[in-house]
Amino acid sequence: MIRIYNTETHEKEDFNTIEHGKVKMYVCGPTVYNYIHVGNARTFVCFDVVRRYLQYRGYKVKFVQNITDVDDKIINQAKKDHTTPEAIAKKYSKAFIDDMHKMNVLDPDVRPRATEEIPEMIKLIQALIDNGHAYEAAGDVYFSVRSDPDYGELSHRNIDELESGHRDLVSGDDSEIESRKHDPLDFALWKAAKPGEPAWDSPWGKGRPGWHCECSAMSHKYLGLPIDIHGGGADLVFPHHENEMAQSRCGYGTDFVHYWMHTGMLQINSEKMSKSLGNFLLLRDVLKTTDPDTLRMLILQTHYRNPLDYSKEHLDEAQAAVDRIMNLLVHINFEIDQADNGSAHLDAAEEANRARLLRIAFVTSMDDDFNTAGALGKVFSYVNDVNTAIGKDVMALPDVGSLKTIRDIILETTGALGFDFKQKLEEQDYPDEVVDLAVKVANYSGSDKHEAVQALLDARENARSEKNYALADQVRDGLAQLGFTIKDMPQGACLSYDGGMNN
Ligand code: AMP
Ligand code: ZN
Repeated sequence: MIRIYNTETHEKEDFNTIEHGKVKMYVCGPTVYNYIHVGNARTFVCFDVVRRYLQYRGYKVKFVQNITDVDDKIINQAKKDHTTPEAIAKKYSKAFIDDMHKMNVLDPDVRPRATEEIPEMIKLIQALIDNGHAYEAAGDVYFSVRSDPDYGELSHRNIDELESGHRDLVSGDDSEIESRKHDPLDFALWKAAKPGEPAWDSPWGKGRPGWHCECSAMSHKYLGLPIDIHGGGADLVFPHHENEMAQSRCGYGTDFVHYWMHTGMLQINSEKMSKSLGNFLLLRDVLKTTDPDTLRMLILQTHYRNPLDYSKEHLDEAQAAVDRIMNLLVHINFEIDQADNGSAHLDAAEEANRARLLRIAFVTSMDDDFNTAGALGKVFSYVNDVNTAIGKDVMALPDVGSLKTIRDIILETTGALGFDFKQKLEEQDYPDEVVDLAVKVANYSGSDKHEAVQALLDARENARSEKNYALADQVRDGLAQLGFTIKDMPQGACLSYDGGMNN
């Protein structure tokens, strides 16, 4: 049974879906006025893992994520760049999707855009006016917070405390807006058009929707209420999700969300990474020098609800962790290719059992509120055990079936976390230099890299039997530079290969 920590109840709850075997899931997408930073990426990767894992556990998941393509921040950026808000939104939504693909984050089933859902939002706002939860004021429409007795339930806030906090925040430009509100706590559902800004026709004149509206309208339209999971970063709990909840509950007259999930903040020097603080690293810049699986490893080695410290040291540790898995996979593939003189003695029944135990341990960790750190810990102790088993008896013949069992369970578990080791392994090939070296020292005339490796081993054997140790050592050193280690055994020499990653 999967258990999920629900922000609304502050408890881990058994996960029971509305419809058997199906999950309706919504995660707030970005406001597209700039490239996303690694903090944003953390949130999107964590929910990618939630979705992938639910699928791994057999659920059919429908996943919706919006793009906020009309907003004050986009309008301001357009002014700065002397272009239109539409051009800004287009540029950065494409960049966001490209970045997500680079991070191996799966596309949502539906990716609605605010500007294309205005009629739905107008319908919701009209319903809220009709049932007394909202009012028009000079072309704006506001949600009346005090009309909702449950307001504050998600973020555990008390309305009277909110009010005193709010007064301190109001200043300057905001004062004109504030004067139109019946109550300082009320928030905008619709904003009257200002000259030169994007605007749509509405029953209240030209204008544009307030930010919170879109997620309510889109969850209702594309998933149907209530939904199972709604997610976002912890900074969205208040006011964004509190307001979404109030609008949806009052406007559609139904329960909104069963499980609210929020990711902790990615921090840099113990401070939240954010565009407004200016302490951010763009995802695309980080990916210029960092493998996406390494960044994913860094993210998933911390539980999604905890704060995560981003640093060079943590990135290096994550890189080493990725290498440990990759080295074993490459080695296993090499052993499978070299099965005739292989070196691993493995008991098939034992390996099948070890893989089964890993699967159980992995699922137990992940079922516990998506404990990716625990699940990865299980994968690493399995990798250690297998390394020991393979190294144990280098004299015996390998069992190819067991090697494949090991490879498959590692790819299965890491794949459920969204790592792309399978693809990496397919791309991993013996370097071209193997052929060149074989041509040089072994009278090799082909171009097949596997045959070239064998030709080199034969050449070394010959050199040794002719007591030409200089040549034998030259072959050994050349292979070592390419990431191969020669093991001498009674049935002949064989190679292990670490892909050159330990050099
Ligand atoms: P935004 O475009 O600002 O709405 O952010 C997109 C998503 O990234 C939201 O779910 C935010 O909660 C999340 N987010 C923003 N900053 C961070 C951070 N430092 N760490 C983790 N998630 C973040
Ligand atoms: Zn939202």
